[in-house]
Amino acid sequence: MQEMNSKGLKKLTYIVNSAIIVMVLGLMLFFYLDHATFLVYFSIPTLFVYIFGYILIAKGLLSGYLTIVYFWLTLYMGLTTICLGYSYGFHLYSMSMIPIIYYTNYMAYKLNTKRVFTGLYSAIIILCYLLSTMRVAVNGPIYEENILYSQIFWMGNSLIVFAFLVFYTKYTVDTMIDSEKRLKEMSYVDRLTGLFNRHYMMERLDEAYNSINESMIAMIDIDDFKRINDVYGHNAGDYVLEKIALIMKENCKDCIISRWGGEEFLILINYGSGLDMMEKLREAVDKEKFVFDEKDIKVSVTIGLAVRNKDLSIDKWIQAADEKLYIGKTGGKNKVVE
Ligand code: GH3
Ligand code: MG
Ligand code: MG
Repeated sequence: MQEMNSKGLKKLTYIVNSAIIVMVLGLMLFFYLDHATFLVYFSIPTLFVYIFGYILIAKGLLSGYLTIVYFWLTLYMGLTTICLGYSYGFHLYSMSMIPIIYYTNYMAYKLNTKRVFTGLYSAIIILCYLLSTMRVAVNGPIYEENILYSQIFWMGNSLIVFAFLVFYTKYTVDTMIDSEKRLKEMSYVDRLTGLFNRHYMMERLDEAYNSINESMIAMIDIDDFKRINDVYGHNAGDYVLEKIALIMKENCKDCIISRWGGEEFLILINYGSGLDMMEKLREAVDKEKFVFDEKDIKVSVTIGLAVRNKDLSIDKWIQAADEKLYIGKTGGKNKVVE
């Protein structure tokens, strides 16, 4: 048993425990009306178990609480089935217990707490289900069946179990889809700048290369970035990278912008000429005031452009942009070279 580390889960458990108590009280009244005396008496220890449950929740002993709840619910289902027969449908709840147990295991995994013995608990539930229903099949129920009550309960219990299964399955699959989407997005995005990463850009380049539309790429490298890091510190360097990412987004609205490497960016421009746009981008960086820790930092970029050429491979296309960038660097930096 371990400490819970989620307040939300604790609150939820309180609500569920309270709902169970209300249900036990309601059923106790019904058992009384149905003259199922044993079940009326059995409801008393049941109530004590759930009241004790509040203490376990308050102490953060979630796995202990769940073990007791699973055990008691299983016992409760078994006994109500033996007493009233399966025409009331109490045994159907076994079907919903199994996914709950596996879900609890998943929560334990997420919250890094002790895992639940899913296989063992499932086996106990199945065994209890088989024993109680078989006893009823052979000997009949202990109390005489009330046709009206059994019809109402059969409908009600079936609907609750089905509603639970539908909700649970939908919730599980939606969660899976959501988390896959998020993982996919994360795998495409650079954390520092929020730009796409090289991996994503390679896929887009592949598309652009095979497309009938013209396109070009711009390789952008920050000038003397090592010096910025050395003089103002690594955090100042990071600040410059983030700010340049924003300036690129503002200046290249219809482009795909990626962080290609440390202080290098690759932009995919989906039409023939991006020279003017890149010239504006270079100017915008040059004019921008970069202030970190109250110190002005002079920042500029050099840009190399290359139009897609189907006679060359994608690698050669990128290499062409790199060569133009190199020409800009050796020619004094803060330049756009086509
Ligand atoms: P040039 O004008 O020729 O491009 O010179 P440069 O100093 O910009 O180029 P160089 O390749 O020598 O240095 C790049 C530096 O970028 C080295 C590396 O420490 C730094 N760098 C790479 N990634 C990051 C990062 O995520 N944050 C910070 N702050 N620095 C980074
Ligand atoms: Mg570089
Ligand atoms: Mg550089």
